[in-house]
Amino acid sequence: MIQIPKGCKDVLPSQAYLWHHIEETARETARRYAFYEIRTPVFEHTELFARGVGDTTDIVNKEMYTFLDKGGRSVTLRPEGTAGVARAFSEHGLAGGVLPFKAYYLVSAFRYERPQAGRLREFHQFGAELYGAAGAAADAETISFADAFLKNLGLKDVALHINSIGCKHCRAQYHRALKEYFAPHLDELCEDCRTRYEKNPMRMLDCKAEGCKRLAAGAPEMLDYLCEDCRAHFEQVNRLLGDAGVAFTVDPGIVRGLDYYSRTVFEFVSDAAGAQGTVLGGGRYDTLLEQLGGKSVPAVGFAAGMERLLMVMEAEHCLPAADAGPACYLAGMDAPSRQKAFLLAEALRRVGIACEVDLMERSIKAQFKYADKTGARFVAVLGERELAEGAAEMKDMKTSCSERVKFEELANYLQGRI
Ligand code: ATP
Ligand code: MG
Repeated sequence: MIQIPKGCKDVLPSQAYLWHHIEETARETARRYAFYEIRTPVFEHTELFARGVGDTTDIVNKEMYTFLDKGGRSVTLRPEGTAGVARAFSEHGLAGGVLPFKAYYLVSAFRYERPQAGRLREFHQFGAELYGAAGAAADAETISFADAFLKNLGLKDVALHINSIGCKHCRAQYHRALKEYFAPHLDELCEDCRTRYEKNPMRMLDCKAEGCKRLAAGAPEMLDYLCEDCRAHFEQVNRLLGDAGVAFTVDPGIVRGLDYYSRTVFEFVSDAAGAQGTVLGGGRYDTLLEQLGGKSVPAVGFAAGMERLLMVMEAEHCLPAADAGPACYLAGMDAPSRQKAFLLAEALRRVGIACEVDLMERSIKAQFKYADKTGARFVAVLGERELAEGAAEMKDMKTSCSERVKFEELANYLQGRI
């Protein structure tokens, strides 16, 4: 048989409730913060990501699923959610509408990576985007939204690290300092970092190679180079978060893997996500829209990796219980009772009650066994006598008690008990 492509995962019906739980928690948290859902295409013109995500990033350099469509246009499966939202925001002229614009998305994303635990080729993200607000309150609200989402999932051991990478003015100075620091060590750097040294020195701090990490530990810190405005902004974000009771540590090592960030950057990190410690990352990207050829509109956002969240939830024992089975299973002894069971089930479904009947022509004993496996709350066996009396013996599988219920009372009976 043909097998699933490397780095992809099926979600079977027995596991889907876990995804529903994360998605519902995401939507509910978004509702409280008044962020509304946006849906953009799974693929975009390659140029959008090349320009938006940035051509010195791992994503654009080596991870994109890019191909020519039959019309010879280069398109790319979205490797992340932010660029598509930025395009939609600009394309629909939303900068001229009601601001701030606050949107969230639940999407799959695609990156050609070496698959491992918590690192897939198709993965899923919950993300949020806030456009139009330049002040620190927007950063604080976005971070608090992310924090509330993780807390609403029941997570406790996820630590928030935040940093500021300044604006293009103060970062230029910092880049000079970084290059000065790394210059005598160029031959100790990995190949990627030698390119980063030229194109985007700060990215060297995000390298996962041991040698580079060791060097990065002693490198100058951006926080020491922030201009007055960037420093005031960062301090205000910290103050608001502190006052709101959102715990965090300032971590000068956080620089993020995408080119569009400025000022605030943050990551929520957990030991339980294994080597892939970051479950959620984000920051401010005031220059993204301009970079894409649109108006200049300040923005801040985050994205969480849902597969990593599941890993951490499992480790922290906060996975929810599986969904309950159907309210009722109607077994049939013979052909007329099966037919009656079928019709009763239809009537129950029409009023919203989950119900099952035998589709496998099983014996009564086997039907019972099946009903038990599905977790049906009530089971009734229909036979000649039940049909004659127009009533069924409803067995409550939880308490093992039974009660005789008229067919026309079934819906009421079940509705009052589930
Ligand atoms: P990493 O440093 O782990 O590669 P990243 O900086 O590339 O992460 P982002 O682009 O910020 O990640 O994406 C946001 C979140 O999406 C990450 O924090 C992570 O939880 C998740 N994520 C990123 N890439 C993958 C992947 N290949 N598989 C599963 N989840 C991922
Ligand atoms: Mg990555």
